[in-house]
Amino acid sequence: MSFLQRIDVKSNDQIALMRKAGAVVGQTLEILRGAAQPGVSLAELNALAEEAIRTRGATPSFLGYGVPPFPAVICTSVNDVVVHGIPTDQVLRDGDLLSIDCGAIVDGWHGDAAITVEVGTVTDQHRELSRVCRQSLDAGVAAMVAGAKLSDISHAIESSIVAAGEYGILREYTGHGIGTSMHMDPAVPNYGPGGKGPKLSVGNVLALEPMITLGSAQTVVLGDDWSVATADKSWASHWEHTIAITPSGPQILTLP
Ligand code: MG
Ligand code: MG
Repeated sequence: MSFLQRIDVKSNDQIALMRKAGAVVGQTLEILRGAAQPGVSLAELNALAEEAIRTRGATPSFLGYGVPPFPAVICTSVNDVVVHGIPTDQVLRDGDLLSIDCGAIVDGWHGDAAITVEVGTVTDQHRELSRVCRQSLDAGVAAMVAGAKLSDISHAIESSIVAAGEYGILREYTGHGIGTSMHMDPAVPNYGPGGKGPKLSVGNVLALEPMITLGSAQTVVLGDDWSVATADKSWASHWEHTIAITPSGPQILTLP
């Protein structure tokens, strides 16, 4: 894997705008976390998200993104779908494990975050899957300090997961730089040895997003051209934050 020599540095003013976009994302995800109950459809969650984003003066970043254009404002990935699920009329059931990924733009600056939601009562194994994934995101955030190397983040995420048990860690999908676009250099894999890549510095902003499964890390893209599901149908979890390196350390920008 090749790395950039240097990661884009944002000013305090630019990070303040990204914090605004991030707050919209964080608030929207909190609304959706509460709304994601058995009997609610993914399309209903999408409608709630669009309202939450637009009433806060922000623009949804996922709508129309990519090829074919993504048709919704959030990704809703249920059970064996890991990421990029399209909100359909599918109705949530008790015990589902739902990843919701959300992005918003304020004054041209992006925020991007995802949560895994337990719908009703999930099994202990699925609760633990989500906890391990979220814990690995926390480990990645903690490794995002000025002077460290980019791959120290990747290694911290992987080490956290490996220490927790046997999980598949997706290889084809990674965290990423973010700013005036949702996806910018560098890619931030969720695995690998530390000590490689560019040195991290104050003003770097990255979206970290571990994606893990209860089985293998092998994935397939479904017939809708977006949904990424596990090849072995094992269930998955996905958590994401947008984080800035500040003089006082890593700061999550996508909090409510
Ligand atoms: Mg995302
Ligand atoms: Mg992302």
